[in-house]
Amino acid sequence: MWLRRMRRNARLTAVAMTLLACGEADAPQAESADGGSGAGAHGPDGGGQGGSDASDNPELDAKCTPTFTLQMEDTGPKGQIFTDAVPDPEPFVQEIGRTVCRILYRELDEVRDANHITLIIRDDPDYAGWKMGDVGNITVMISTQHLAQVQGQGMDVATEIHGILLHEMTHMYQNDDKAPGEGTYPDLPNVVEGVADFVRIRAGYPPSGAQPSKDGSWDDTGYWKPAFFMLWIDGKHPDFLYHLNLTMVAGDGVPWTPDTIQDITGVSVDDLWAEYLGASCCAGSTQTCCQ
Ligand SMILES: [Zn+2]
Repeated sequence: MWLRRMRRNARLTAVAMTLLACGEADAPQAESADGGSGAGAHGPDGGGQGGSDASDNPELDAKCTPTFTLQMEDTGPKGQIFTDAVPDPEPFVQEIGRTVCRILYRELDEVRDANHITLIIRDDPDYAGWKMGDVGNITVMISTQHLAQVQGQGMDVATEIHGILLHEMTHMYQNDDKAPGEGTYPDLPNVVEGVADFVRIRAGYPPSGAQPSKDGSWDDTGYWKPAFFMLWIDGKHPDFLYHLNLTMVAGDGVPWTPDTIQDITGVSVDDLWAEYLGASCCAGSTQTCCQ
């Protein structure tokens, strides 16, 4: 889901939009604006920085190299901002697909079938962007007005596009428990969004302004709040996110609940959250939360 956070205080509204949109796989889903990531340090190619990420698995890489269609609707000056930032979008997008899978998966047969992405570059005044579709074929729109704004703020446009696509292409590949009789946990959409921002942050492209948040409960909002919490868990329990994603397989007949976090870590999510609240390493503005 998605990326618009023109103002930080618009976040709750944007998240509410996400919650509404999550049940509609074929409707455009406006995302909370994960903003630019220009303020953050990032890896040279967005490759996973986690020590446990798979790296030498050609079969996994091949499965996570989607076919690609660019729908370039804005051929004016703002569209040129995209072209200047990403002159060769097909390999750019395909590498992001591989990065996502190296973080989410270890084995070929674990990967959800997902094989095509259409990227629309549009002069859209209403949305910074959106994502439509699920799994096998997704469409992502990025507004050139948003890119112009990012550029105007002095942030790196390619970094912003990279971060957006890491988040959206995580939705393409992640398990989300969406199947009849499953997906019943009320805050599951927030957890799903948290996984998408986890991947984005782990890959080195955090949303602009992202930092740990420790109010309320761990999954009462989506995006970077649960993402940082899960990054912290992943640091204590290596491969946590990998195992978490596998517990959300749609069609396994098991509605997902946070109890699976205890199954993975041996500690209840409530106890983990309580410990996280006191973890000094996540009290500041670190973007990887002790990783
Ligand atoms: Zn999303």
